[in-house]
Amino acid sequence: MEGLIFDIQRSRLDDGPGIRTTVFLKGCPLRCVWCSNPESQRSSPEIMYNANLHIDGCEECIKTCPANAMEKDERQGIKISRDLCKVKCNECAKVCYSNALTVIGQRVSVEEVLKAVEKDIPFYRSSDGGVTISGGEPLAQPEFTREILKACKERGIHTVLDTSGYGQWSDLEKIIKYVDITLYDIKHMNPLKHKAYTGASNELILENVRRMGQKKMPIIIRLAIIPKINDSKENINELIELTKEVLALRVDLLPYHRLGVSKYKMLGREYGLQGLEPPTREHLNRVRDLLISHKVGTELVV
Ligand code: SF4
Ligand code: SF4
Repeated sequence: MEGLIFDIQRSRLDDGPGIRTTVFLKGCPLRCVWCSNPESQRSSPEIMYNANLHIDGCEECIKTCPANAMEKDERQGIKISRDLCKVKCNECAKVCYSNALTVIGQRVSVEEVLKAVEKDIPFYRSSDGGVTISGGEPLAQPEFTREILKACKERGIHTVLDTSGYGQWSDLEKIIKYVDITLYDIKHMNPLKHKAYTGASNELILENVRRMGQKKMPIIIRLAIIPKINDSKENINELIELTKEVLALRVDLLPYHRLGVSKYKMLGREYGLQGLEPPTREHLNRVRDLLISHKVGTELVV
């Protein structure tokens, strides 16, 4: 079985307990306006262009592109007409000596993923770590996700699923049999605001996490703190209620950051949250204190 990934990163420390290898699956049905991994969203490979690496005077990709989708550009070296780049042949990236053009997304088999993650089994053992499946959205490739997790469990590897929960319960139910801890990303408790900022309502997400709670699955709720969007007292209070209802182990707070902004330009896309500043430490402490005052365990993930 094969799936589409955009990265496998070793020695991760923030994707669950211990030292972990995280497999990032490509493709996500949500479009969170603050997403710091826009290259994870589309469910097909795509070309990323880093103008800083372009070599002045080089026109190799322009000459190579069978769709005439590349042209010279005064400001940024070359310009890609993404509407014309329909064949997605990746020929431009193959001839780019400087790696200004790279292909994001590769199809790999479950066996290839396992070969990569098995390299670090000694580190998992010594640190109580393991493998995390993240994205993108793992539920967008349910069979692939399930088979990787199942193979990990067969090898005695600890597993974490990092999900928005936006997927079919019938898929999630089959996957969580092979999951030790689920990092469950809640974007917003209000369905209308959830739709406005992610493109979809949160009803399915909340229904799925409640079903997991009923099954007493170990869940850590994750909330990216986006100032003025999901950090109101009302929203945090609703999140606290949910956390208690599903018996979540704790709430991880992830401060909004702007590290992914340049990637939007490299993918020929607009970033939707221009001008928004990351939360201050005082701001994060206020949210953390509110959780603690309701006896909800919390950690800051930076
Ligand atoms: S992927 Fe192929 S069609 Fe698209 S820009 Fe590159 S060379 Fe042209
Ligand atoms: S092949 Fe690479 S370095 Fe050459 S023009 Fe294209 S993007 Fe620039």
